[in-house]
Amino acid sequence: MSKRDYYDVLGVSRNAGENEIKKAYRKLALEFHPDRNKGNKEAEERFKEAAEAYEVLRDREKRDIYDRFGHQGLEGRGFRGFSGFEDIFSSFGDIFDDFFGFGNSRGRKTREKQGKSLRYDIELSLKEAYYGIDREISFYRQDVCPECNGSGSGFGSEPQICPTCQGRGQVVRSQGFFQISSTCPMCHGQGEIITNPCSNCSGQGRIRIERTINVKIPPGVDTGSQLRLRNEGEPGDFGGPKGDLFVVIHVNEDRFFKREGDDLLCEVPVSFVQAALGSTVNIPVLGEDGDYDLDIPQGTQPGEIIRIDGKGMPSVRRYHKRGDLYAKVIVKVPQKLNQRQKDLLEAFAETEGLAVTGRAKRWKAFGRK
Ligand SMILES: [Zn+2]
Ligand SMILES: [Zn+2]
Repeated sequence: MSKRDYYDVLGVSRNAGENEIKKAYRKLALEFHPDRNKGNKEAEERFKEAAEAYEVLRDREKRDIYDRFGHQGLEGRGFRGFSGFEDIFSSFGDIFDDFFGFGNSRGRKTREKQGKSLRYDIELSLKEAYYGIDREISFYRQDVCPECNGSGSGFGSEPQICPTCQGRGQVVRSQGFFQISSTCPMCHGQGEIITNPCSNCSGQGRIRIERTINVKIPPGVDTGSQLRLRNEGEPGDFGGPKGDLFVVIHVNEDRFFKREGDDLLCEVPVSFVQAALGSTVNIPVLGEDGDYDLDIPQGTQPGEIIRIDGKGMPSVRRYHKRGDLYAKVIVKVPQKLNQRQKDLLEAFAETEGLAVTGRAKRWKAFGRK
């Protein structure tokens, strides 16, 4: 297969200058770029052909040999052209900078990635959840190394653009009809290599730090509530934004109050006499008051529920709203009675016309045996 004349390939005259040659090549390289001509074999050939022509004509020495001896002259001196795209990109990567996301600035932007978000679990008592609290929390996270500002390079030096991929982070290889793009083995996709690593972070650009912050937990939170603290997560890659910190709330069970949404439930033990006659029982409540005089109406039945308006939990969603408190009345029957109490209860039973005496005695006798 005979090779085309390099000047014809680029479409320039024999005395074209450096700039003209570069311009002509760039035009062709963009037109036949593999990213724009996926699977187009002819474009691939044209792309390679143009790269080879450019490689020769931009180089004074090679151009001179070519002008005098043609293709054979170069081959006789060991010039083989390019083996594949990887070769071409590593030689002329800079020529694409302004056009594709390859080179430095643009390439990095397209790879921007938000940092990892973190989770921190907080346990609260019901009372803390009621009032809301400020809690100081400490946690570990990856952070930008302050010594090298995240570059990973030691003092006074900067990362170098990876020579293998020209900062793309990817290399393209031809295999038969296919172009295979893979992570650059030299820089592991970073696009840059560190020649003089920062001693503080060993060139990672990141270090593990302990971070202490104050978290404001609003009143009314419940188990499963999450607070999102923006930018308190880990730093992003390639200049991407930081992740967030999610504070996940767990409210511990309370001994006296059970919670259902914004409402609270409690059990109020009263004697059977209090239930029968009616009375006032002092019970604890959350909030400024601290306690509350609950009215037990005369004739309250066991298990009856009394609602106390607005003595529940504050609502996280509805400002200045509070749930209700539901008090369940537990009627206690005395297990031990003294003689006087027995006499009184028997007298009471007689007023109700109940023949308890005989039966009670029988049960007593039975119980003793
Ligand atoms: Zn560092
Ligand atoms: Zn690389």
